[in-house]
Amino acid sequence: MELSGGMAGERGDEPGLNKPFEEPLESDAGGDPQAVGSPPVTDREIGLLLQEARAARRRAYAPYSGFTVGAAVLGFSGRIHVGCNVENASYGLSLCAERAAVAAAVVNGDRRIRAVAVVGGGAGAVEISLTPCGACRQVIHEHGGGKVMVITTGPQGTFVLASGGELFPRAFGAAQLARPGAERGSGADGTDGTDGTGGANQATE
Ligand SMILES: [Zn+2]
Repeated sequence: MELSGGMAGERGDEPGLNKPFEEPLESDAGGDPQAVGSPPVTDREIGLLLQEARAARRRAYAPYSGFTVGAAVLGFSGRIHVGCNVENASYGLSLCAERAAVAAAVVNGDRRIRAVAVVGGGAGAVEISLTPCGACRQVIHEHGGGKVMVITTGPQGTFVLASGGELFPRAFGAAQLARPGAERGSGADGTDGTDGTGGANQATE
């Protein structure tokens, strides 16, 4: 574990650090999870994602509901990141597996994701048909757009594929935050001018 770095400086280390996901979003999703500028998700990757999601599920912390969930996210790097649900005695603070997996992807450098697999259920290893909750759909949309492939389980161990756009149509996203008339990225590429907080002490007299 590297504990160096912290909050100090280095905000410009990663390209696009302070920029939101900018892949084409839901408008041209067309319901095809394979479409866009990312390589198609292969059968092998689907198998790996399900395998990793099931392994993550076994590490879930769900002492209150007994409902364990595991999720695995495929980043644009090709790496897989996992998460499990983490409940809390203050029930409302419980964290879903999908959002935990997306957070793991981001902290490991995969801000953009190509696919998410989610498996879970109640007691034992039995899996029920499961889809991401609304909060998770919003978070998956942020990092995967409308074309992210969402892999869920069906009866008897089968799996079901859907695009993010199918599960979460007309999603709210970064595009809605664009200020009218303001040209995005006015400071060219590398000028990652953080944000304009420096305007505080204008010394103009
Ligand atoms: Zn959720």
